[in-house]
Amino acid sequence: NVRTRFAPSPTGFIHLGNIRSALYPWAFARSQGGTFILRIEDTDLERSSQAAVDVILEGMRWLGLDPDEGPYYQMQRMDRYREVLAQMREQGLIYPCYMSVEALDKLRERQMAAKEKPRYDGTWRPEPGKTLPAVPEGVQPVWRFRNPIGGTVAWDDKVKGRIEISNDELDDLVIARPDGTPTYNFCVVVDDIDMQITHVIRGDDHVNNTPRQINIFRALGQEPPVFAHLPTVLNEQGEKMSKRNGAKPVTQYRDEGFLPDAMVNYLARLGWSHGDAEIFGREQFLQWFNLDHLGRSAAQFDEAKLRWVNAQHMKLTADEALAQLVKDLLARREIATDARLPALCGLLKDRCDTTVALADWVARFYTDVQPDPAELKKHITEGVRPALGMLAKMLEACPWTREDIAEAIKETLRATGLKMPQLAMPVRVVVMGTAQTPSLDAVLALSQRERVVERLQNA
Ligand code: GLU
Repeated sequence: NVRTRFAPSPTGFIHLGNIRSALYPWAFARSQGGTFILRIEDTDLERSSQAAVDVILEGMRWLGLDPDEGPYYQMQRMDRYREVLAQMREQGLIYPCYMSVEALDKLRERQMAAKEKPRYDGTWRPEPGKTLPAVPEGVQPVWRFRNPIGGTVAWDDKVKGRIEISNDELDDLVIARPDGTPTYNFCVVVDDIDMQITHVIRGDDHVNNTPRQINIFRALGQEPPVFAHLPTVLNEQGEKMSKRNGAKPVTQYRDEGFLPDAMVNYLARLGWSHGDAEIFGREQFLQWFNLDHLGRSAAQFDEAKLRWVNAQHMKLTADEALAQLVKDLLARREIATDARLPALCGLLKDRCDTTVALADWVARFYTDVQPDPAELKKHITEGVRPALGMLAKMLEACPWTREDIAEAIKETLRATGLKMPQLAMPVRVVVMGTAQTPSLDAVLALSQRERVVERLQNA
């Protein structure tokens, strides 16, 4: 039974690079009939915030990445960590280290000067026949994990292939601070054991933690899970995506009018592929997803591409469904809509790459848009005025269907000798406030007759 997790730290507003690390474990669990768990790693009290947790929860809900279990919060599991620490102490898996910060600094300086990798030297590690230094008075020790000496730690990473690290490169990790609080790598392992995680799918910024974590798993008598370390997501400048260099919170994309399915589609392709499939729905993605086609190289975010993917999904979305979204967006601007809305969405969706852009367009049909004076001047010439009057008269009387409106336009052209663009452009500007609209008869049929006639007459 597959069990995966997403374990974000709520230390900043979750961005697209982070949420991709939720998408894959979610998809893997879903596609295997497994369980997807959300765990909030909130032990960094200074940098964590409830606002950041909220963006994680909201973003995941919006994208439909619903956890089957959780959210669990590490801060609520402190008793459990202390319990495991006590057990490890009893089993001699950890030991107290009294080396002062100053002594550690000196050790590090010496090692750096000798061009060695800085590492704890094991002064306080108990060994048979070894005499430990005298315990200083009034000092609370840190607790260090007895990392195995000699041999290697190895795993077959689902993305990076086989990785082998010599144990001699790993020193004895501090797993509890002097005040007894557990440290990061230790909490992660206890959680992954307790939550029975079978596959750890996470960013490759954690790849250096993995050998240490595997040793802790084994010391606790557990086989480590399968690991898949995802390559970094770069921003458009080629830097690691982060909030410091302008990455937007995930929820901002919702506010800018992106569709959740388009986001899932785009994020899915940011580090995974299925042949050259570019546009696919959620169900299709879940059918295709597996850990064998995760990309090995860093993926780069591309907003233009995201917009294109969103535009494709808008085309594929039913008019009724788009209408619901647009209705909500317009309601926020206090614009009431009516039964024309689905047809308007159908007419205009091809030219919009976000629902916000679509709402902007649709709003022209529900508000009194004022034509741009420069455009008016350009298109409303003396020669065209009589034609506008004639068209107004015909539109006043004809049945309000696209066909009849088209007929009235043709009639006006015949009577005045104007060419289609000579008439259509001014009519567009007068009625819609812009010359860039879909076909004129369709636009007029979805406009209100009184308004069209009145505006043509006034022009
Ligand atoms: N909390 C870590 C992070 O936000 C992820 C830890 C993990 O997935 O093991 O980067």
